[in-house]
Amino acid sequence: MRGSDRIEQIYGDVVRRNPGEIEFHQAVKEVVETLGPVLDKHPEYVEHKLIERICEPERQLIFRVPWQDDRGEVQIARGFRVGFSSVLGPYKGGLRFHPSVYLGIIKFLGFEQIFKNALTGLPIGGAKGGSDFDPKGKSDGEIMRFCQSFMTSLYSHLGEYTDVPAGDIGVGGREIGYLFGQYKRITNRYESGVLTGKSPEWGGALVRREATGYGTVFFTEEMLKVRDQGIEGRTCVVSGSGNVALYAIEKLQQLGAKVVACSDSSGVIIDERGVDLDVLKEVKMVHRQRISSYVDHHGDSKFIANGNIWDIPCHIALPCATQNELGEEDARRLVANGCIAVAEGANMPTTPQGVRVFQEAGIAYGPGKAANAGGVATSALEMQQNASRDAWTFEHTERRLREIMQNIHQNCFETAEEFGSAGNYVIGANIVGFRRVAQAMLAFGVI
Ligand code: NDP
Repeated sequence: MRGSDRIEQIYGDVVRRNPGEIEFHQAVKEVVETLGPVLDKHPEYVEHKLIERICEPERQLIFRVPWQDDRGEVQIARGFRVGFSSVLGPYKGGLRFHPSVYLGIIKFLGFEQIFKNALTGLPIGGAKGGSDFDPKGKSDGEIMRFCQSFMTSLYSHLGEYTDVPAGDIGVGGREIGYLFGQYKRITNRYESGVLTGKSPEWGGALVRREATGYGTVFFTEEMLKVRDQGIEGRTCVVSGSGNVALYAIEKLQQLGAKVVACSDSSGVIIDERGVDLDVLKEVKMVHRQRISSYVDHHGDSKFIANGNIWDIPCHIALPCATQNELGEEDARRLVANGCIAVAEGANMPTTPQGVRVFQEAGIAYGPGKAANAGGVATSALEMQQNASRDAWTFEHTERRLREIMQNIHQNCFETAEEFGSAGNYVIGANIVGFRRVAQAMLAFGVI
């Protein structure tokens, strides 16, 4: 059987062995359906069942997280940590706290993370974790007690050479602080390298907070450069208003673009004069309010409850909120309205049908595992600084981030060309990431 003929069988087995985990199925399909030509070129990958092995996590932890709310009532959440691959380095990937979290979400994110982390060229494996705990509306005390309980269950599986979590949806600097504090307390070790996304005041790296958003914009810049286009003067929309979205907006504005809309799960704000980032940060980061509060500060802007951000005409669209937030019809509308580039700050935000629309229209489309890899890459830079007890300047770290994003772009671009799919960053990213992991797996034998 030819390698490429094996793909369908492998995917069928994944669906059968992981029932109901639809996001995981989607993520696996998106990767394996591009790998046929690589398997045909490397029969040893087939012989050693590398794809089958990659699709099965090395380890999966599911644990109870009991905590007490401010009224003293006991609450029970479910915690997850899935280590997919540790052939290139310790498990690395964020923690997500959101009520939609279940095993299928964590596995899709962990699976993506294997290839994303390999793409960075840095020594990090792939993992993801989190909980169905909903941080919205919780007090600081409740967040702290939850994080402490979560870490109490997880700490013995972590370590700077074993597994190094970071943030994701619902997990930012505050949560990383509580998690790190509890790890330090239980283990009696100041092990800075066990978590990334820490505050620069106690072991964190400058630029880590900005890295995913900035990196997504750097990747966009590279995609446009090969088309002799640029970011300056472009009209943009950015979905979400969390960590990734805010810093994507910041970098777009620094590069001379105008961001006219962003969103949260309650709706969309439109500010034709350009989003006022200071106000937006105040609303979302300081007061943790709903995005509609932005309009109270900017009378000319408007809030559309449950609005669809992809209806708004733009040249550049950056989905930076969550998975499957941009569907086929949204993609068609973006293309019809003159969009020239889409880069994913979020993980798997575009549905497979939406991706096809972008590819058929020939616009620049950067999939998340390449476009948002700047976050985890800068986490690896944070680990480097922790290991050498050093702290780099903002300028130095941002320059490293930009070089890493340029390298990722170039590798994806050249590999897509090598496989006869010029300009297809999905194929480029999947093949570059997979080959790096595959070579290490072969070297290590059957483990
Ligand atoms: P945050 O929690 O900081 O922000 C998430 C934003 O997305 C919020 O505005 C939130 O709105 C919105 N959102 C979340 N879920 C939904 C939903 N179901 N429907 C509509 N809007 C939603 O998370 P991040 O910015 O860290 O993460 C955003 C995306 O980027 C995720 O896909 C994440 O996996 C990905 N990512 C993050 C990295 C990082 O370094 N943080 C690295 C690489 C990828 P609301 O507040 O109303 O819920």
